[in-house]
Amino acid sequence: MKLIAIRLILVLSLVTPVLQADAQSKPIIVLDPGHSGKAVRGVDTQTGLNDYDYPNHPEMEEAFRVAKDVGAQLERTGYKVIYTKQKVDDTVSLRKRATIAQNANAVIGVSIHNDHGRPYKSFGQVYAQSIGQWRGGSQSKPKAIFKNQQIASTSESYAKTFAEERTKVEEHLVSVTPISFNNRPGIEPGNIPQVMLFAGTSPHAVPWVYNEVGGIGFGKKQEALYAKGLANAIEKCVPIGAKH
Ligand SMILES: [Zn+2]
Repeated sequence: MKLIAIRLILVLSLVTPVLQADAQSKPIIVLDPGHSGKAVRGVDTQTGLNDYDYPNHPEMEEAFRVAKDVGAQLERTGYKVIYTKQKVDDTVSLRKRATIAQNANAVIGVSIHNDHGRPYKSFGQVYAQSIGQWRGGSQSKPKAIFKNQQIASTSESYAKTFAEERTKVEEHLVSVTPISFNNRPGIEPGNIPQVMLFAGTSPHAVPWVYNEVGGIGFGKKQEALYAKGLANAIEKCVPIGAKH
């Protein structure tokens, strides 16, 4: 009995460091389900930009369930997953979402949205961080411009993979496209989602990919396909075991 106990301790002492090393080397993925439980009406202190967001139903509930579904697949395959919201109706500013990913040293941030003005069968988009993208520039506010070349290259390459992997499973074409926020009341004009602009600044800049899909005809089946496409894309972008 005693001998067994000693052997057990020996075995555990050999195994424990391996387990710890394994946990430490898991790639950290930040999943960012869109929108907040309450309206966000702040001013970002670093850029002076309005930090503006709103509750959006049923997008919020759907995006949150998709994020959880994606996270479950990733945890099964060996990733550490962090969410920008813990509950569907949490209220988290765009700056805070970026900071969560930066503080976690995430290898990728993934925003998850859907658009109930577009049909699922014909709408799937991916946005990347690119040099020269901007927000603001109205009134007395200077434009905040995206300038991180390394992050842009990574994000652009990831975005391509997202479009490919999502297209394979979502039963429609998904493309990397530009995005415009011009002429939307309350929202700073420009052409990069603010969470991606904020996340891409040093220190600890994080490459980010922002996903949209049509919300008309978006049921349980489409929810599962969207989650599968996103999870596959993340696994392809940041494979387990590779150096990140
Ligand atoms: Zn949205």
